[in-house]
Amino acid sequence: MPLRSPLYSQRSLIITLIALLGCGFLATSFLSYYASRTSIRDNIVNTELPLTSDTVYSEIQKDLVRPVLISSMMSRDTFMRDWVMGGERDPGQMTRYLNEVMTHYGAYTAFFVSNGTLTYYHAKGVLKKVSPDTPRDAWYFRVRDMAAPYEINVDPDQANQNNLTFFINYKVYDYQDNFIGIAGVGLAVDTVVKLIDRYQQRYQRTVYFVDTLGRIVLTGAEGGPQGARSGQSLSALENLHDLQIGLSEPHGGNYDYSAHGQRHFLNVRFIPELNWYLFVDKREDSALGDIRRSLYLNLLICLGVTLSVLALLHRLIGRYQRKLETQATLDSLTGLPNRRGFDLLAAQAMHEAQRETKPLTALLLDLDHFKRLNDTHGHLAGDQVLSGFARHLESCLRQADIVCRWGGEEFIVLLKDTDSATALKIAEKIRLLIEQQRYAYEGKSLQLTVSIGLTTLQANDTLHDLLSRADHALYRAKQTGRNRTCVEMPHSSYE
Ligand code: GH3
Ligand code: MG
Ligand code: MG
Repeated sequence: MPLRSPLYSQRSLIITLIALLGCGFLATSFLSYYASRTSIRDNIVNTELPLTSDTVYSEIQKDLVRPVLISSMMSRDTFMRDWVMGGERDPGQMTRYLNEVMTHYGAYTAFFVSNGTLTYYHAKGVLKKVSPDTPRDAWYFRVRDMAAPYEINVDPDQANQNNLTFFINYKVYDYQDNFIGIAGVGLAVDTVVKLIDRYQQRYQRTVYFVDTLGRIVLTGAEGGPQGARSGQSLSALENLHDLQIGLSEPHGGNYDYSAHGQRHFLNVRFIPELNWYLFVDKREDSALGDIRRSLYLNLLICLGVTLSVLALLHRLIGRYQRKLETQATLDSLTGLPNRRGFDLLAAQAMHEAQRETKPLTALLLDLDHFKRLNDTHGHLAGDQVLSGFARHLESCLRQADIVCRWGGEEFIVLLKDTDSATALKIAEKIRLLIEQQRYAYEGKSLQLTVSIGLTTLQANDTLHDLLSRADHALYRAKQTGRNRTCVEMPHSSYE
């Protein structure tokens, strides 16, 4: 079975970890995001929107419904009715009355149109006579003929520089229920729009009104849903016509829909006094901004944690791998480099020697009759002698020299920048030191000798050439009686 390279397994470990951490973090972040989103949605639909709608409704009661009540009061006012039935004799009286209503209740205008004389009275005097032939007076004849007691109408106000005005046109009857005219007050549309803008700002929702035919009748300054203006029908707006709110039957309810890729929540409530629907619309986006920000922050933290874990792991694995690599090139008994370590060091030393044309000498050392020592004193004794021998060998060498355990009881030394004559002196020094050395083991004093083969690197030598010459030399040292150094050169050999 082919072995996987460490790099490959490290990469697959890191990929697995990224996948695990990534999936775990993503799953928890998104689960909590979706859980929060669901609860926020529930909260919007079931609590927030109805509550806002209630509050806006009560403000409307104050701001918009009040003019309806004032107009209603005017239509039942005995002065008004008596004055009409008395023949509309003193217009000043009516003007004063209208002026009083307007200033006292803070209305933009107050008016009365008599059905008998078709005179239009307002707070500052008599404006004109209304005529069925004048298009601007069409409202009067429409209201006169309708069944409902009043209507709310948006028109320019002729009595006030044609400013767009929100009129409440209330029908007035005498005591025998005969129609005698239309009275009411007006609010400047600007004022009403400002009111809506105030609601919108205060509650961070879109607030607008829709009539029973599904037409938008009043919006804030920026328009209603999707920027729609008054007069536009809901059915012309993206996805709103699908809601089938069914506005012809007064009712209320909660809806949600999507428009321009945004989810919206909608609360609809019928306002009987206005005969309009109040729509309070909230974009999901604005509500989810906070949790979306915390999701991004969460993901950022997860990314940070994942990257930190990976960086830490990468460092740990690297350190562990370097440790393993070092261990793989060292011999555990003597602590010297093993054959693998030697190969790396020797290649470098040979390269340096050949480049700098400096001599490099190799010594191959083999302990004499080591098997006998093992057989006589045991393997542990042999081990102890081997590691003691390694220390003594090192003590005869320079830091720069390369020494390694070649295998069993054989060692190899590369003496840098050392010719054969100097190397021979060093080899002999080693041999003599070992010969004189005593190794203590379990109260016994052990002794041994070493045979050494010596050779010097030649130009164009390979490591194999160098080692086989050293091996020949060692062989001769063994053959000629052991405990000696033999030199082998390409053209000459001597003891
Ligand atoms: P020669 O003088 O011809 O080299 O004889 P020798 O006995 O040293 O040579 P041989 O190659 O026959 O035996 C080497 C012995 O070294 C045999 C082996 O058990 C022993 N040996 C090799 N490695 C170790 C080791 O790590 N520890 C111990 N205790 N003995 C070892
Ligand atoms: Mg041997
Ligand atoms: Mg031996």
